[in-house]
Amino acid sequence: MAGAKGLSINLATVRQQFDLQQACEACARQGIEWVAPWRDQLAKVGAAEAARIIAGSGLRVTGLCRGGMFTTDPNAIDDNRRAIDEAATIGADHLVLVVGGLPAGSRDLAAARQKVAEGLAAVLPYARAAKIPLAIEPLHPMYAPDRAVINTLAQALDLCSALGEGVGVVLDTYHLWWDPELLPQIARAGRDKRILAHHISDFLVPTRDLLNDRGMMGDGVIDFKGFRHAVEAAGFTGPQEVELFSHDWWGKPGDQVIATCIERFNAFC
Ligand code: ZN
Repeated sequence: MAGAKGLSINLATVRQQFDLQQACEACARQGIEWVAPWRDQLAKVGAAEAARIIAGSGLRVTGLCRGGMFTTDPNAIDDNRRAIDEAATIGADHLVLVVGGLPAGSRDLAAARQKVAEGLAAVLPYARAAKIPLAIEPLHPMYAPDRAVINTLAQALDLCSALGEGVGVVLDTYHLWWDPELLPQIARAGRDKRILAHHISDFLVPTRDLLNDRGMMGDGVIDFKGFRHAVEAAGFTGPQEVELFSHDWWGKPGDQVIATCIERFNAFC
């Protein structure tokens, strides 16, 4: 049981096996103290009931996934405000933002990035009032076309500096491991007090599916201990959140997946 301390389970990891209640019970049984649910999991029961399910299992919430999509959703501002309300209802530490990719037919990255900055600025006062920090998650550049035009930690931190209080970053090993500027930028994120979350999953070789072939820690090429040391040296000591979108792991029993997350977290992270 002690082995699960400091680990959060992002509930996408067992989304095919469990509903919210089953996932929370399974995590609690294995000594997990933190989870990160998705909004569709909340929507099935309502945010208030989701809050009861999570707290009733003795769990706390790292991030709510997710808001964002400023470049492609015409109702993004309203939707992000609803996401902030939901995050507050379940007592989430922060709201994770996947900022959005290129609009259909566009090749104008600069315009898309400008739209992200404007969307964030529009939502930020509401987030500050609700005391829910907005966590910008820079995604691996392979997602720039369709998910997020913020692709490096430096870019995300520049945005934070421009926006001021109430916004920070997610440090996800899968998205950031390759960046030659990673270590100095993690140190900068710490100095700027912007680190809100530390996500973990491994990068497989070969990666057979751009979205749903993330690796269990230890199965790929990422130096998790090196990443962790940099994050801790930058002053962040919150949970590491394992977030696996994986057809392989969705095909295994949920209890086994959670047990493997704990085992690999202790061995590799
Ligand atoms: Zn992540």
